[in-house]
Amino acid sequence: MHGLMMDYPLTMDRILEHAYRLYPHKRITTKLPDGSMHQYTYTHLYERVKRLANVLGKLGVKPGDRVGTFAWNNYQHLELYYAIPCSGAVCHTLNIRLFPEQLTYIVNHAEDKVVFIDATLLPLFEGVAEQIDCVQHYVLFNADRGLETKLPNVSFYEELMADADDDYEWRATDENAAMGLCYTSGTTGDPKGVLYSHRSMYLHTMGANQANSLALTEADVVLTVVPQFHAMAWGLPYACAFAGAEMVMPGPHLKPPDLAEMIAEEKVTVPAGVPTIWTGLYHELKENPRDVSHVRALLVGGAAMPRALIEAYEKDLNINVLHAWGMTEMSPLGTVSHLQSHHHELPKHEQWDVKARQGYPVAGVEMRIVNDAGEELLWDGVTMGEVQVRGPWIAKAYYKVDSSSEHFTPDGWFRTGDVATMSEDGYMHITDRTKDLVKSGGEWISSVALENSLMAHQSVMEAAVIAIPDERWGERPMAVVVLASDANPVTDEELLEYLAPKFPKFWLPNRLAFIEEIPKTSVGKFDKKVLRHRYAEGKLG
Ligand code: ADP
Repeated sequence: MHGLMMDYPLTMDRILEHAYRLYPHKRITTKLPDGSMHQYTYTHLYERVKRLANVLGKLGVKPGDRVGTFAWNNYQHLELYYAIPCSGAVCHTLNIRLFPEQLTYIVNHAEDKVVFIDATLLPLFEGVAEQIDCVQHYVLFNADRGLETKLPNVSFYEELMADADDDYEWRATDENAAMGLCYTSGTTGDPKGVLYSHRSMYLHTMGANQANSLALTEADVVLTVVPQFHAMAWGLPYACAFAGAEMVMPGPHLKPPDLAEMIAEEKVTVPAGVPTIWTGLYHELKENPRDVSHVRALLVGGAAMPRALIEAYEKDLNINVLHAWGMTEMSPLGTVSHLQSHHHELPKHEQWDVKARQGYPVAGVEMRIVNDAGEELLWDGVTMGEVQVRGPWIAKAYYKVDSSSEHFTPDGWFRTGDVATMSEDGYMHITDRTKDLVKSGGEWISSVALENSLMAHQSVMEAAVIAIPDERWGERPMAVVVLASDANPVTDEELLEYLAPKFPKFWLPNRLAFIEEIPKTSVGKFDKKVLRHRYAEGKLG
């Protein structure tokens, strides 16, 4: 017997309608390329999204077509986040930091019909356009008509908007229709497309806004430093609208002083970004203190937030850090690391240990850890296994790729490729990616644990640990270290002595090399693929 409840499609236009009805005056602020601030409200967003939906129709975009965006975080990009899916098409966010070959591959693979380009990034796109054959129109924003470009079939955003009608009936009626496409940045292999549906993104939005999750409310002001071209900006553009939270978008201004200024001036309550961004902000706020007392949660994810930095933020700046974990394949939110009531009695240093874990699953996401034989492991805080997940906002296949057992289990779980322990109370602690683990003499060594410990040393700015081949043990750990510019010099012996009491003897790195900078991926994570390459070529230490 079926229930007798409404068949109400969970589509993106519902989210926008809600914000328009309830929070018409809440502000959306963008720092423009010239450094000035642009501000409007959800009412303006709503009206412009309708115009933009008409523009898409005039450009020949049909339901199901892929429309690319190549842009910083700004209000035009936000308009595209709504107009594309609300007109039935698929919003394909292109990562501006990809290598040209990857960018070409992705646009052609997705068969984008129209691409919207932030003119400040035009040269990057011009460099690849000749290898792209599917795009019928390019639309430029943050640009005036006089702008010269090598791209064919170019129109200008504001001109199209000025000519468009602002009356539009939303076209997304099937909640299972695709609404967004995002390729993984390829930290571990070729980029693969994750195709979100309206339903999955709607449910993700509700999941993100649960009280035990990000808990956004209309009192929040969210600064999205996490790029809109990466994992749908963690779903924040939708979560903010549903909650009525105000939004601040930094455009191309990602330097620590710019971010510190935006947080202070716009009274941001939730800044969101990856750890490397927050390392820079910490030093900026220490050197040039500002009033940031309104920050209720510094949201961090995408890579492990070093415990030392969580402690430093709280001790020195009185800023509460909220650590979260996710993946492009998970829309992306999987876990958050709020303290629970039973942690409140703990001494501070133990609370920081909890916050340094990636957290407990957001309700709606199921998790398990398994061993190499696929057997489920205990949640005892010690046993390490591969993390597998399932739920309504988790991918079941990649776009135009045959489902492979490498990524999906026969019983319907997604293999994350992360290795973690789960504590009895459900907190995941990532110890590695399966591809980054050091396997020494049959035992697993966590590169992440070594890195975090090294980065807690006052002379160390960044540290990455990679596996290097070893005749006797198979693999051994090697640490690659960047010293802080203002720090006292330290030798490799001193760093090894510093690590020694913290780890079993066989975990200690065999080699240590000092370098100027750890290479980063397109989304700011340590690129260990490059480090392993350099080692193999004899160019590392
Ligand atoms: P990729 O890095 O392959 O481009 P994503 O950007 O989707 O893919 O990143 C997902 C991965 O990032 C996760 O599988 C995990 O390894 C890592 N990650 C994300 N958040 C965290 C976190 N808080 N701590 C540690 N690792 C994280």
